[in-house]
Amino acid sequence: MQKRLTLLGSTGSIGDSTLDVVARHPDRFTVYALTAHRNGDKLVEQCLRFAPEVAVVGDAATAQDVERKLRAAGSKTIVTHGPQALIDVAKSDGCDTVVAAIVGAAGLEPTLAAAQTGKRILLANKEALVMSGDIFMNAVRDNGAVLLPVDSEHNAVFQCLPREAAMHGGVTKIILTASGGPFRTREPSTLVDVTPEQACKHPNWSMGRKISVDSATMMNKGLEVIEAHYLFDLPGDRIDVLIHPQSVIHSMVSYADGSVLAQLGNPDMRTPIAHALAYPDRVDSGVAQLDLVQVATLNFEHPDYTRFPCLALAMKALNEGGVASATLNAANEIAVEAFLNRRIGFMAIAQTVDAVLNALQNRPATSLEVVLEADAAARRAAHTIIDSLPVPA
Ligand code: NAD
Ligand code: MG
Repeated sequence: MQKRLTLLGSTGSIGDSTLDVVARHPDRFTVYALTAHRNGDKLVEQCLRFAPEVAVVGDAATAQDVERKLRAAGSKTIVTHGPQALIDVAKSDGCDTVVAAIVGAAGLEPTLAAAQTGKRILLANKEALVMSGDIFMNAVRDNGAVLLPVDSEHNAVFQCLPREAAMHGGVTKIILTASGGPFRTREPSTLVDVTPEQACKHPNWSMGRKISVDSATMMNKGLEVIEAHYLFDLPGDRIDVLIHPQSVIHSMVSYADGSVLAQLGNPDMRTPIAHALAYPDRVDSGVAQLDLVQVATLNFEHPDYTRFPCLALAMKALNEGGVASATLNAANEIAVEAFLNRRIGFMAIAQTVDAVLNALQNRPATSLEVVLEADAAARRAAHTIIDSLPVPA
């Protein structure tokens, strides 16, 4: 039976890769809804190619523009806008599968709505899970939703875990690999001067700007440790981070008998996306087979928590529990945006997140409202701290 997809964040990097895989298998997948924030023209192109029933954008003006262009081209796609419209397409009967590929906290409510309506969810939007943790996982369980990780590390772990009962198969540890990003070997004292362009130039992966900066600070790996904790129900001290600059081993699972299972492949998000889209089948993703002779060497090292303070901050937030992860995530989103806008320097990202975590009191994450309040408070606190920091030269 064909899967009917809602693709939240279709105009982003994950959105592009998803549509690339979808286009290879018109017999398996149809598109019910596509969503974009501001990039109306790209959404129009996607709509003309994939003919979804609904397209969602961020605001009324973009919606009007998209609608006009679609009608002029003879398209019947209905255009809606705003946060409620995202929730509507995520829980609509028109789709059975929701690809969560919005960046940041904006993806939480529609992704949660997909969980509450028992969809099959392909999760790229790690921030949604980092923020809401148990609330999200409970919604998945209570409503019979199926959660398939798209993040390459988590998809690798998922592939290396025993099929049923994730944690009852003698698993001792999860080992998340990390490339170390563009600044793995850069002289630490020069990190204060790096530019957004340098931070966004990832050695192995091509991604959106926010996750690229997160990879440069290694906050991305910190968020992924939290993501792994919730997805696979393991405490933080059984989730290791291992630097592996080639990004060929996408992560590993170690077992009580000494076995270590790894998933390998070229660093291309179409592999985990195709795996999750077709699961449990395997389909062509367009990614070339891995040539290990060409790769020749695989290197590994321990992460450096001094060079990458964001990684340590994320571990700390996970250990503290409650809304600390939501606070960390929100402060990081504001700090990364300020860095991309050249308002603060690179090292001020960690400084801001640390200061926000210290300034705000942690509390149990008892409901979505509590999480959203913590998110809003952290954003306000981050803005206050950033206002007090000097503009980089
Ligand atoms: P991106 O910036 O390329 O795309 C983001 C998408 O979200 C766009 O379609 C944009 O229109 C939409 N969007 C942005 N702000 C929005 C808002 N306020 N409301 C509604 N929609 C909004 O990002 P990306 O690199 O594709 O990453 C998307 C998610 O996937 C992130 O959570 C990221 O951490 C995760 N992820 C990405 C990669 C990767 O290789 N790019 C790998 C693993 C995980
Ligand atoms: Mg990842």
